[in-house]
Amino acid sequence: MKEFWPTMDFLKPRLIPMNRRRRIYEGKAKVLYEGPEPGTLIQHFKDDATAFNAKKHQIIDGKGVLNNRISEFIFQHLNNIGVPTHFIRRLNMREQLIKEVEIIPLEVVVRNVAAGSLSTRLGLEEGTQLPRSIIEFYYKNDGLNDPMVSEEHITAFGWASPQEIDDIMALAIRVNDFLSGLFLGVGIRLIDFKMETGRLWEGEMMRIVVADEISPDSCRLWDVKSNDKMDKDRFRRDLGGVVEAYTEVARRLGIMQESEATRPTGPQLVQ
Ligand code: UDP
Repeated sequence: MKEFWPTMDFLKPRLIPMNRRRRIYEGKAKVLYEGPEPGTLIQHFKDDATAFNAKKHQIIDGKGVLNNRISEFIFQHLNNIGVPTHFIRRLNMREQLIKEVEIIPLEVVVRNVAAGSLSTRLGLEEGTQLPRSIIEFYYKNDGLNDPMVSEEHITAFGWASPQEIDDIMALAIRVNDFLSGLFLGVGIRLIDFKMETGRLWEGEMMRIVVADEISPDSCRLWDVKSNDKMDKDRFRRDLGGVVEAYTEVARRLGIMQESEATRPTGPQLVQ
């Protein structure tokens, strides 16, 4: 007997081949593609590592897979504790489904311990505990080398309103508190980190959410006992062992199974 419904194909998930997807944006370490539904995007993590405004560049096998998993873990926890983020769910080894937001052109850096550019700027020895957590803003502009800006610049040039800056700072403090505790619990000191925020439109309403990624690419993470660096400074400062350090972060957070490979293993040649 002929089926009444000619086809139920519309119920099947549509798999769009990678190369036919519409690419919305390509950054240094990530690509954004159009998502399956309006208001969604797919965030793809590449293996590219860059530093010093892309003057230094290298492909680090497996880094994208690790950052995808670590960032998923952090954003899922933030969602669970009521910190709004753009994250919906991880799709596969390198990709996650996110909500489309209007990115605020600021890098928000939260520091607990002196390191990097703060140490250079103020002549503080790296590792010096700061009297309290400090929030800094940098204007996202590669051509200008992401200059540090104050709230005055941000409001004068209209990058964010005073109310939005308050929301961003409240988010930054909550993310810092959560991350500091999370990492300390697994023997890691959160020295500093960078986060990005975006405007999420829900009908007439708008709220600020945490966007982009939070991973060892955007944090400084030191082992509590040895002070070993477990973050992108291993790449910036040519210390080697980048993937090993990121894998250790994932392992301590209980993310990756020991047996899980970060790179596709093809057929093995039997000798
Ligand atoms: N950071 C980042 N992207 C940037 C600049 C900084 O993720 O473009 C992170 C960096 O990994 C560190 C924190 O922000 O965790 C503070 O970085 P800093 O200002 O010390 O700059 P750096 O020394 O990395 O140039």
